[in-house]
Amino acid sequence: MPHTVELLAVGTELLLGNIVNTDAQMLSQGLSDLGLNVYYHTVVGDNPERLRQAVTVAKSRADIIITTGGLGPTCDDLTKVVLSEAFGKKLVFDERSADRIRAYFARLERPMSENNLQQAMLPEGCTVFDNDWGTAPACAFEADGKHVILLPGPPRECTALFRNRVVPYLRGLAEGIILSHTLKIFGMGESALEAMLRDRMNAMENPTLAPYAKEGECELRITAKAGTEAQAEALLAPVCEELCQLLGDKVYGMDVPNLESVVLDLLKKTDKTLGTAESCTGGLIAKRMTDLPGASQVFHGGIVSYVNQVKANVLGVPQDLLDQYGAVSAPVAQAMAQGARKALGTDLAVAVTGVAGPTPDDRGNEVGLVYVALAQEGGVQVETLHCGTIRARTRTVAASHALNMVRLALQGN
Ligand code: ATP
Ligand code: MG
Repeated sequence: MPHTVELLAVGTELLLGNIVNTDAQMLSQGLSDLGLNVYYHTVVGDNPERLRQAVTVAKSRADIIITTGGLGPTCDDLTKVVLSEAFGKKLVFDERSADRIRAYFARLERPMSENNLQQAMLPEGCTVFDNDWGTAPACAFEADGKHVILLPGPPRECTALFRNRVVPYLRGLAEGIILSHTLKIFGMGESALEAMLRDRMNAMENPTLAPYAKEGECELRITAKAGTEAQAEALLAPVCEELCQLLGDKVYGMDVPNLESVVLDLLKKTDKTLGTAESCTGGLIAKRMTDLPGASQVFHGGIVSYVNQVKANVLGVPQDLLDQYGAVSAPVAQAMAQGARKALGTDLAVAVTGVAGPTPDDRGNEVGLVYVALAQEGGVQVETLHCGTIRARTRTVAASHALNMVRLALQGN
C-alpha cells in the first residue's frame, strides 16, 4: 500500500489569508485515521506555472497526491488541466458526469451555463467520484506509480466526498485493513509521554504508536495493519493493554470523545450526581457537561460564583475565609465545593477558583494559579494548579482538571 501523502491546496485566497486551509486539516485527520502518513501540506495560488512546479515536487516525494480546489467552472480553476498534463493524461468528456451536472441544475431550477460542463472534462481512465453535494465531480487516477486524487475546494463538498468516496477508495488500495485505537491521556504532557515511549515507538513496526498533543491533554494512537479486522484487533489488543498498564490512571479512556463523556458515563454507572461552583472557569465545566445529551440525569447544575458576594451569599463561603485567605485559595475552593454540594443537592461537587489573568489578582497571586476542590460524602480534597499565562488555556486546563478529579473519584482512586 502506498502510504505517504502530500496535500496540495490550490487557491490564491489561501495565500492571501482570506480563508483558512480547513480542508487540509480535515483531510489530514482522516488520512491519519487510515494509517497514512501525510508528510507535506503545500499551498499554491491559482497560477499554472507555480502549480506545475508544486506538482513536480510533490511527485518526487509522495505516493499519493491529493489536491483541493480549482475544480470549478471558471478560468482560474486549473487544477485538472495542470495535473493531467503533469501525468501525461488527456482530459476527456465524461457523459455521465455531464448528465449529473445537468440534473443538478434542473433540480435547483437554476440556469446552467455551458462552462459548467467543463467540470465533466476528466482525466482519461480516472475513477469518478460522484458529487452529491455540488457540481464538480472529484476523481482519482494512477499514473507514473503515483495515486492522484482531485477534490473540490468548498469544505462541505470536500468533506462529504472524502468521507463517502475517497476513504473507501483508499481502503480498497490497501491490501488488508488498517485499524487504530486511541488512548486518551490526562495529566501528562506530550513530551513526557514521548520520552517515556520513544524507544518503544522506534522499535515498533506493526502496530505503530503516535502521540498527539491536545489542549492540556494528549492522545496516543495505536495503528495496526493486517489482513482482516480480527487480525488487526489481535495485534492491537496486547499493545493497548500494555500501554494502559504503563500509564495507569492517566488513561481516561480508549476511543472516547472527551473527559466529560467519560464523567457522564461514570456518573450514570455509579448512580451519582454532580454539581459545580465555578469562578475563573465561568461555567465552562457546566457547559462541557451539558454539551452531552442525557446529562440532566446526573448533572444537577452549576453556580458561576465570580465575585465574593456570590461565593458568600449563594455558596455560603464564610466571610472570614474570604477575608483571611482571599478568593483564590485552597480553603475557599474547598468551601465553594461544599457549598455547591449542599445548594445543588448532589453527591459530588467540584469547584474552581483561580487567576485567569492577564494580570495577577489584588493579593499578588500569580497568573495561572488555580485551586480545584472536590467535595463528596466523607470530605473534600483540593489540588493546586499552575496553568501558565494564557487566559483561555488556563480556563480549559482548569475545567479539564476538575472533570478529571471527578473521574478519578468515581473510579474509586
Ligand atoms: P467551485 O466550484 O466552488 O469554484 P473549486 O473546487 O474550484 O470550487 P475553489 O474555486 O478553489 O474550489 O474554491 C471555492 C471555495 O472553496 C473558496 O472560495 C473557499 O471558500 C473554499 N475553499 C477552497 N479551498 C479551500 C481550502 N483548502 N480550505 C477551506 N476552504 C477552501
Ligand atoms: Mg473555483
